[in-house]
Amino acid sequence: MAEKITMSADGVLRVPDEPIIPFIEGDGSGVDIWPAAKLVLDAAAAKHGHRVEWKEVLAGQKAFDETGDWLPEETIQAFRDHLIGIKGPLTTPVGGGFRSLNVALRQILDLYVCLRPVRWFAGVPSPVKHPELVDMVIFRENTEDIYAGLEVQEGSAEARRLIELLRDELGWEIRPDSGVGIKPVSVTGSKRLIRAAIRYALERDRRSVTLVHKGNIQKFTEGAFRQWGYELVREEFPEVAVGWDDCGGDPGDRLLVKDAIADITLQQVLTRPSDFDVIATTNLNGDYLSDALAAQVGGIGIAPGANINYVTGHGIFEATHGTAPKYAGQDRVNPGSVLLSGVLMFEHIGWSAAAADIVSALEATIAERIVTYDFARQMEGATEVKTSELASAIVDRL
Ligand code: NAP
Repeated sequence: MAEKITMSADGVLRVPDEPIIPFIEGDGSGVDIWPAAKLVLDAAAAKHGHRVEWKEVLAGQKAFDETGDWLPEETIQAFRDHLIGIKGPLTTPVGGGFRSLNVALRQILDLYVCLRPVRWFAGVPSPVKHPELVDMVIFRENTEDIYAGLEVQEGSAEARRLIELLRDELGWEIRPDSGVGIKPVSVTGSKRLIRAAIRYALERDRRSVTLVHKGNIQKFTEGAFRQWGYELVREEFPEVAVGWDDCGGDPGDRLLVKDAIADITLQQVLTRPSDFDVIATTNLNGDYLSDALAAQVGGIGIAPGANINYVTGHGIFEATHGTAPKYAGQDRVNPGSVLLSGVLMFEHIGWSAAAADIVSALEATIAERIVTYDFARQMEGATEVKTSELASAIVDRL
């Protein structure tokens, strides 16, 4: 019988044999990629004696058309109750009262980690010489930084008041014709993010965690993020992890926690990708890094992602690209992003064998050059297939 995933008092996910998992199909090309991903996920689950009871919930255009609401309360409640869910891409409503539905879901459920693993699949066209050296997992802080939405518009009464207050109270001279944004970075927000990254690295035997920051300039936000990260290692992980400064770069058999400045990082992930493994970073840096890295390994069509709160157990796994409206309903786009997000979800709920099988089958399919249009246009001798045909080809290789 299908049941909800729950979390035990000691913070461990309890996953029944037949979990009920809410999904949002997604707008635009969501109608193409979700059924394709589901076909593969179901086949891999069945192979290992699992079954998911998918529960459709609405958000985005489909929700608006059916209910007049872009993000119905019922949908939020379903994610609250079932802990783990998955979603396709959503149209950002213009003037709908949301910055974006994705941001709204992250904020409502306090999904403080944006998790983006980035690795290369053999055969995927890449703009770099050695994409195989890219194997990184980004932990991007999801709730703070300049993304907290604390901004006032140039010329507004609020901007004038804020500029005056900052001048009178702190002696800061800000040009009167400025828009002003606030960048909060807290001990709480930073440490819970870095804690999640360190635990992930330890559980999976990764080599290092790099704290990526812009602390040379933004000392009390980005610099503090770095400092709190090293503090956390000493406070909570002294036996199993060590900061660079505390070991001179030689961690022995402990996990190495080091740091790097964001601008240098964006160079070095290109020139020395094997120096990076798990990355923990603030919100804006993480946004730039995840897209830059996704491009290195074949781009937007196959980059998976998840937004997770490891304390409450909530997690929403998601396609990282948009709705690609010009291809909607054409059975053309790459289902890889939402499929690999499903793989990430299976790993997260402990269905690692099913997850690994999907990855192997996808690799075999790409190795035979059976790909959707986005890869076909960059590959010699490719067989271009539809979204649904790619899914069937992957299932055949499971
Ligand atoms: P987009 O939907 O990501 O599409 C941009 C381009 O990326 C497409 O034209 C296509 O490139 C490529 N692409 C996207 N998905 C692909 C896939 N599955 N397979 C292969 N190629 C893919 O970005 P957008 O056009 O800027 O945004 C459209 C809508 O999506 C907007 O409403 C935006 O707000 C929303 N959006 C949602 C999310 C989300 O829900 N997570 C994220 C971003 C944007 P080619 O044209 O080169 O083929």
